Amino acid sequence: MLSIDAQLSELNSIARERGITVVRTFTESKSAKEPGREIFNDMLRRIERGEANAILSWKLDRIARNFDDGGKIIGLLQRGVIQEIRTFEKTYLPTDNVLMIAVEFGMANQYVRDLSLNIRRGIREKIRRGIYSWKAPLGYFNEPRLRTIEPHPEYFDKVKKLLERFATGTLSLTGFQRELKAAGVVGERSKKPLVLSAIGHVLRNPFYYGVFLHKGEMHQGVHVPMISKKTFDDIQKALVTVGKPRRRREEKNLVFLNFATCAECGYSITGERHIKKSGLRFHYYRCTHKSREQRCPATTFIRQEKLAEEVKRNAELVLIPDEWKEKFLAKIETWETETSIEKQQKIDSLKAELALLKTKIDRVNKAFTEGAIDIAEFKELKNPMVALKADLEQQIVVLEGSKINRLEPLKKWILEANTAQNDVFSDNWLGMKSFLEKVGSNRLLRAQTVTVSFKKPFDLLAETNVTVRNAPIDFSANSVWWSRQGSNLRHPQCHCGALPTELRPHPEWRLI
Ligand SMILES: [Zn+2]
Repeated sequence: MLSIDAQLSELNSIARERGITVVRTFTESKSAKEPGREIFNDMLRRIERGEANAILSWKLDRIARNFDDGGKIIGLLQRGVIQEIRTFEKTYLPTDNVLMIAVEFGMANQYVRDLSLNIRRGIREKIRRGIYSWKAPLGYFNEPRLRTIEPHPEYFDKVKKLLERFATGTLSLTGFQRELKAAGVVGERSKKPLVLSAIGHVLRNPFYYGVFLHKGEMHQGVHVPMISKKTFDDIQKALVTVGKPRRRREEKNLVFLNFATCAECGYSITGERHIKKSGLRFHYYRCTHKSREQRCPATTFIRQEKLAEEVKRNAELVLIPDEWKEKFLAKIETWETETSIEKQQKIDSLKAELALLKTKIDRVNKAFTEGAIDIAEFKELKNPMVALKADLEQQIVVLEGSKINRLEPLKKWILEANTAQNDVFSDNWLGMKSFLEKVGSNRLLRAQTVTVSFKKPFDLLAETNVTVRNAPIDFSANSVWWSRQGSNLRHPQCHCGALPTELRPHPEWRLI
């Protein structure tokens, strides 16, 4: 495209050749997209006053680039006020097909639209490179000079810790809010503790594991992730179980509120305080009888002391005593050395998979920027790949974190099941309660008994604990459990953090 000066000199030479008198020259660099341009209007006024009767222009779209301006020009041409529009390539006369001219103006309009589409594509290109250009989420800040999003020096670790805690399912939404406030983390602008809806936003924001959404499209960000994809997924699960914030304040002495449900009707068990005539206070629990469909047949109460016993009995079912823990950990150590080769093979195969995926993503990006696929197809193809990519990358990071290997979940599980021991020994009811809430999906109260539906592999542990306690003592069986069969403990493809389902001490094994 020629510069304005070059265009002018070309046009002036046409004027000289054809004997055209140039009354006035108009140039403007302002985009002609929006109507109401001063120079354009000045030109039309002068033509209408009879100062000139024709327009000489480089191209039609230089005169007007929108339908309003184009319409005015066409009108003047039709009425003969403008007798001729001459461009570098073509001459337009009042007798010409107006529709043709309109189409040419329309094309100019389309050109401008395409241009702004290209600008939007430019923004998309920036996003594609992983640059999140909005307000930094909690725990990050907008770096003004580099225009990047960086970890907040003070809040990043605090928010990270809380997110990880929330992922374990032991924190409610209000609990999260309270802890944030206690840690001194406040809203960037308001300088106040976050409201619950804002907290929901934080917990659902995939930005924290390294990606971000823009108009429903997922992008791999270049910012430092705060948590792993796994933790993010756990948070989403925890959000479902935690649900809406509890309305009732947990009473200090009614420790087992919101803990169990009625085995008869499925409604929650509530707690009440009662003061006897003698002045003796006691706490008891019962079904709320909230079901409208059925009359709950459970009419009995359970004393808090009895319920506590039940909680302890259940906690004891799924804990690993210290001696077991030591033996387990020692065995794991020997297995750990054997796994390093397999681990490297896994890393190599993940890396190959990742390289392949990157090629695929590049191909989709290319197809989109070249216009081979539309936005809907693009999103459909790309979003799952971006998520998968983040997943693969994190799997590799986890595997490469040398010490961390696939036996780590098993170790973690053993330690976790062991920590409950302290709670049982010290009568830490809240500790036992949250432990049972974590390892069991359902806690039913029937008459004076609490039954917990333990999750895997705690269900196996509970079963084993019962077997071991009930079986007659037979020390000779020891070796069976610790024989090479023990390699079954390892989950064949366990790199995902899932616990080995085969984990099951030999029923006859016991400790000396
Ligand atoms: Zn009931």
